[in-house]
Amino acid sequence: MTGVDVVRLLRERLGDRVDTSPGARDLARADKSGHAAGGAPLAVVHAASVADVQETLRIAHATGTPVVTRGAGTGLAGGANAGTGEIALSVRRMDRVLEVRPDDLLAVVEPGILNADLDAALEPYGLWWPPDPASREISTVGGNIATGAGGLLCAKYGVVRDAVLAVDIVLADGRLLHLGHRTVKGVTGLDLTSLVIGSEGTLGVIVGATLKLRRRSTAHTRTLTAVFPDVRAAARGSSAVTASGAQPAIMELMDALSLAAVHRLLQLPAPAAEAAQLTVQTDGPGADAEAEQIAAVLTAAGGTVRLAESEAEAALLWRIRRSMHPAMETLGTTLIEDVSVPRSRLPEMFDEIARIERAYGIRIPTVCHAGDGNLHPNFVFAGPEVPPEIWEAADELFRAALRLGGTLTGEHGVGVLKRRWLADELGDDQWQLQRDIARVFDPTGILNPGKVFDR
Ligand SMILES: Cc1cc2nc3c(=O)[nH]c(=O)nc-3n(C[C@H](O)[C@H](O)[C@H](O)COP(=O)(O)OP(=O)(O)OC[C@H]3O[C@@H](n4cnc5c(N)ncnc54)[C@H](O)[C@@H]3O)c2cc1C
Repeated sequence: MTGVDVVRLLRERLGDRVDTSPGARDLARADKSGHAAGGAPLAVVHAASVADVQETLRIAHATGTPVVTRGAGTGLAGGANAGTGEIALSVRRMDRVLEVRPDDLLAVVEPGILNADLDAALEPYGLWWPPDPASREISTVGGNIATGAGGLLCAKYGVVRDAVLAVDIVLADGRLLHLGHRTVKGVTGLDLTSLVIGSEGTLGVIVGATLKLRRRSTAHTRTLTAVFPDVRAAARGSSAVTASGAQPAIMELMDALSLAAVHRLLQLPAPAAEAAQLTVQTDGPGADAEAEQIAAVLTAAGGTVRLAESEAEAALLWRIRRSMHPAMETLGTTLIEDVSVPRSRLPEMFDEIARIERAYGIRIPTVCHAGDGNLHPNFVFAGPEVPPEIWEAADELFRAALRLGGTLTGEHGVGVLKRRWLADELGDDQWQLQRDIARVFDPTGILNPGKVFDR
């Protein structure tokens, strides 16, 4: 069956939810990774209901047409990029909060709701969903689940994997499954909910989620910074905080290059050369005491510590951290990497980054969720495609993280950009097992082909 026939079938059953305009198809080729699919998809289906998703997949299954599911397209691994001969299936319009249960601390939502819109909807109930990717204003809850997203607060409050009780998923042939449970406990059968979290659109389309909520406890916070003479010292400081038993809600590290770029962007006075900075937030009733405790640990580690004296000062410190992405965009095209290491190995990982910078004659501005050991080294280059020498440097970075007991991706996922390293981390047997599992969900391989497993 030709692409024209597939589009005709989609139109017959889904009407104006099928968009074949060049603009929409072109947009669906790319996410925010800097990588785009070679050609444009056949059509973008804007699903408005579970039935729309099921209908799209029935047609795709019957015609053997690949389907790339899309939330908001803010991914950094190329996972949502749809190309020639594929259907881009957007669930962005499925954005309702279906149920909020303060007594059970859960909410049932559709996948296309933006993370920040969910937060606004939960606020009147005094509840919140902890995962807070820096992209929370622009990324969907479904996308957060499909990528297994993290965020700044996950050092204390966990990642998406810790905050989802159940998912509704449409399989490749259009069947609807309800995975998981609404209860706090539940061990009936295999944990397929966990399998779907982080599956990047390869196992099915997430059409609903039951989220595990917390009561809002972040009303009282304290923020402090510690400036260190170099990034290794800052990394040692963050490891010392973790080892001390203190539990910051957020602990972020910015190296000298990142700080300089952000200060330039925000027109702030230039920071001292080579100086790296930790920014830490404590929260809850013990926030003041915990901030003092952390300040003492960081001072002993050689940091120059300052406790923010006002909310405005604290807000500026967090604005500096959150401006990293726009600051990098002013420098060129950016490949934002995402390796994670055990927190005690952070100083060694920064040594490795310095070694790679020297070996390749490049600079790698790096920010780090130091509270959980997740680093975002930024490779900046000119032009739209990642040059081969940058991939070589990134290859060294991945191998260094693996040697230190770490992982290729802490929160952004594998997508297309990291699939060639997947077997290096998993080993051949586990890689094959994972691929076989994906085939059980999607025997004909129409769900996001070429992503994650390079099927
Ligand atoms: C400025 C910026 C900051 C960022 N900060 C963070 C951060 O702090 N932490 C973090 O983890 N990420 C971060 N990201 C990356 C990105 O925002 C996350 O990966 C986010 O979870 C993607 O959500 P999305 O709705 O944009 O998904 P998309 O980009 O549309 O899709 C991502 C992947 O999920 C799949 N997918 C999407 N929706 C579904 C669904 N309903 N069912 C099945 N599969 C689906 C897609 O096929 C694709 O493989 C950042 C990105 C940017 C641009």
